[in-house]
Amino acid sequence: MNFKYYAAFINERIARQAKWDSRFLALAEQVALWSKDPSTKCGAVITRPGNFVVSVGYNGFPSGCDDADELYTAKETKYSRVVHAETNAVLSARQSVEGCTIYVTPIPPCDRCASTLIQAGIIRVVHPEIDVSKIERWRAAFDSAMKMYREAGVEVVSVRARSATESGQGAEASGRDGSGEQNASGNA
Ligand SMILES: [Zn+2]
Repeated sequence: MNFKYYAAFINERIARQAKWDSRFLALAEQVALWSKDPSTKCGAVITRPGNFVVSVGYNGFPSGCDDADELYTAKETKYSRVVHAETNAVLSARQSVEGCTIYVTPIPPCDRCASTLIQAGIIRVVHPEIDVSKIERWRAAFDSAMKMYREAGVEVVSVRARSATESGQGAEASGRDGSGEQNASGNA
């Protein structure tokens, strides 16, 4: 295989994966809407190689527990009870998630979820590009998560945010620029 052919082959593969990344992030945005939390609605989609959906999750209280609206507005109660979207997606999967990718929106996984994802065998985390300065409360958690991904060799992909209505329009609109956080902790 000559270099030019190989480069074109790789570019095509990257473009194809970028298209699926956009689609699954859009799906995660939809799943996030199912959350009853009035202030933060997060969604997660786990896929296995070949781009097949394994599981979805959103932030909410454990099954069977009272999830009245007022419990979501009582912050201490909410933080105590809530299962984050990413962890819910792992727990809901009816097959191993080893070697799978997780799509998380609108913010990256916190450190507690990151440790769960790593331990469950997730090898790739995809989230929309975010302005961390706008969610200062989570900065330490994100930094801690990134450190763990690097140590464990988990690939992290940050995709420029797009509206859900643009989804499925192809890789050219996925906003990847090959810089910044993309593959920030890849194992390549
Ligand atoms: Zn979390």
